[in-house]
Amino acid sequence: MLQKGTKVYSIFHNKCPKCQNGDFFINHSAFNFKNVLKIHDHCPSCHFKFMIEPSFFYGAMYVTYGLTVIAAVILFLIGYLIGLTFVENLIFMSIALAVLSPLSLRLSRLIYINMFVDFEKSKPTNR
Ligand SMILES: [Zn+2]
Repeated sequence: MLQKGTKVYSIFHNKCPKCQNGDFFINHSAFNFKNVLKIHDHCPSCHFKFMIEPSFFYGAMYVTYGLTVIAAVILFLIGYLIGLTFVENLIFMSIALAVLSPLSLRLSRLIYINMFVDFEKSKPTNR
C-alpha cells in the first residue's frame, strides 16, 4: 500500500505526485511553524510545477475540513472512552486539534494535489 507509484506513498512521504522522487514541502517537519506550508515552486527532481494554477491550494481547505471532522470524531470517542465529561472532552478536542492542525494542513495539500496529478513512471518534463 505504501509502495512507490501509489498516491498514498506520495501523501505520507512528502513526495512529488508526478515522479515521487522530489520533496513536496521544503521542510520535512510539520511542526516547524515558520515554514509549515512552504512548498518548492517546482519539483527538485522532475521540475513539475506544484502551483498548477494561481490559488490552486485554496481547494485544499475542503480537504482540511474533512480531515478535521474525522479527527474531531475520533478524538471525541477517545475522550468519551477514557471517561472525560462533555466540557473536558471539548477542551481536550480543541487542544488536540490545534496541535494537529499543521499536520492536517500539510496532509490536505498533498491529498489535494494527488487528486489532480497522477504518477508517471518515466521522467516527466512538465514545466
Ligand atoms: Zn517530481
